[in-house]
Amino acid sequence: MRITLEKWYAQPVHCPFCGCATKLDEPEVSCRHWLYTAYFEFLTRSERFNKVAGLPEDLDPDMTTETTEKHGNNYEIINKNQHKFFNLVEYDLPTPSDGTLIGFAPIDE
Ligand SMILES: [Zn+2]
Repeated sequence: MRITLEKWYAQPVHCPFCGCATKLDEPEVSCRHWLYTAYFEFLTRSERFNKVAGLPEDLDPDMTTETTEKHGNNYEIINKNQHKFFNLVEYDLPTPSDGTLIGFAPIDE
């Protein structure tokens, strides 16, 4: 499910599962439900997302040409793997950059 936040004014985005605030510039300090943040040419990912997507843990969030050629661009990586997470919720923030996506999914345990 994708939720578009038309009027987003730089407040944190809150996890739909636990309410934890997730900042755009430091998503890695979010809760365990956070999966990824795509922003310009960056794709910051959680350990859980890397594992399910089969991406190396040390893959740089900056999507270089080499990374894109090997794995696809950030949106392709997300599209390829979204169906692997049950009840995934994705926020789409049209600003500050067109195509800023933040994904969360419940923990499977
Ligand atoms: Zn959460």
